[in-house]
Amino acid sequence: MHLGHLHGALTNWKQLQEDYDCFFFIADWHALTSEYANTKVIKESIEDIIVDWISVGLDPDRATFFIQSKIKEHAELYLVFSMITPLPWLERNPTYKEQLRELEQKDLYTFGFLGYPVLQAADILLYKASGVPVGEDQAPHVELTREIARRFNHYYGPLFPEPDTLLAPTSKLLGLDRRKMSKSYNNAIFLTDSDEEIDKQVGRMITDPQRARRSDPGNPDICNVFSFHEIYTPGDVVRQIDGDCRTAAVGCVDCKKMMAANLRKALQPIRDKRSILESDMDRVRDIIDAGNQRARGIAEETMAEVKKALKV
Ligand code: SF4
Repeated sequence: MHLGHLHGALTNWKQLQEDYDCFFFIADWHALTSEYANTKVIKESIEDIIVDWISVGLDPDRATFFIQSKIKEHAELYLVFSMITPLPWLERNPTYKEQLRELEQKDLYTFGFLGYPVLQAADILLYKASGVPVGEDQAPHVELTREIARRFNHYYGPLFPEPDTLLAPTSKLLGLDRRKMSKSYNNAIFLTDSDEEIDKQVGRMITDPQRARRSDPGNPDICNVFSFHEIYTPGDVVRQIDGDCRTAAVGCVDCKKMMAANLRKALQPIRDKRSILESDMDRVRDIIDAGNQRARGIAEETMAEVKKALKV
């Protein structure tokens, strides 16, 4: 996982696990929608992601961690929902259109890619979730989930609650190229990156695009490096950088070096925890098995209710 995940989702999840009975899952069926031609990478990522979660402070004793494809009911409920979801609901999905544009190197004109919000609805409603933490871009999918729940309840009787959108604060951190940080865009800094990789990636970051020469004053308000400083650099230093940037007293190269040093320092405890976990992967697998078992119990119950309602 990368810094966009950390500041967009994981920090928020850490808070939610204090207040809710949380279910966090690895969406490996979803990963197939864009990685169907390279499935090896999906399996390799699963344990890595769980290790990332625990390293940043998600707690398997408080929340349930599980893997989507290990719970067959996700696929079953997806099938049922796909029967009742009108095609225009999916075609008007703004994320669908955006991703088709952004990931034009991949052939995403597939049934599965168009239908992934239906699978999301199954993921959510299988556990009769009361809320779903999402970024703004995913909010339309939760709305679609509510519509699917309403439609199911209308045809077959009241079974599913309509989940709330728990809007997560949007991460201010953009990718290296100032687009949204994403592995697919090759513009991310990962929690697992080494010191050398962090330095290299920070060196690639686009700063204030108007600042062509070292002697030009910069504008930290539109600089992505500065957004990183605001998270990783002490407040008094941030204020100093703000002034020095505007008067060209500091150059972007030095400014980036300072930021990279603070970023490395902040990620160190996460990396330390990761290396302890990596030396005991059996424990990680036990955590996943226990989570799968708990999730499966609930999913089986819901699916039995669905079949009863459908009279199938
Ligand atoms: S000096 Fe720092 S804050 Fe200013 S434009 Fe360069 S990298 Fe951004």
